[in-house]
Amino acid sequence: MADTIIQRCEASGLRMTEQRRIIARVLEDARDHPDVDELFNRAVAIDAAISIATVYRTVKLFEEAGILERHEFGDGRARYEDATRDHHDHLIDMHSGDVIEFVDPDIEALQEKIAQKLGYELRGHRLELYGVPIKKSDKS
Ligand SMILES: [Zn+2]
Repeated sequence: MADTIIQRCEASGLRMTEQRRIIARVLEDARDHPDVDELFNRAVAIDAAISIATVYRTVKLFEEAGILERHEFGDGRARYEDATRDHHDHLIDMHSGDVIEFVDPDIEALQEKIAQKLGYELRGHRLELYGVPIKKSDKS
């Protein structure tokens, strides 16, 4: 198993104050893709003294250290998730804003093939699908 976010922060030499530890723990527990406002809400429930500015600075620091991955799902808001999570792509529900994670072996293979055809060895990709739920009556 990968180290926790706190362990990786310490390994990259970040000074871990109590508030940074709380924010790291909130991120560690997140199973979604919270933005700064959401992280702030969760962190302030643990320590009322945490400010939104501290959350901003902390996630930026963690992102720069390669500990967090930053996403933007079409609404201009930065969202964060643990950078060591297994590779997956995202489908964004344009009505509810829900983010669904998926991995599709056909898409993975197709991307490899396209890169190869263009003379490249694939080192990574980012795929975001945007959709609205299919109405039950349309499903047949
Ligand atoms: Zn994700």
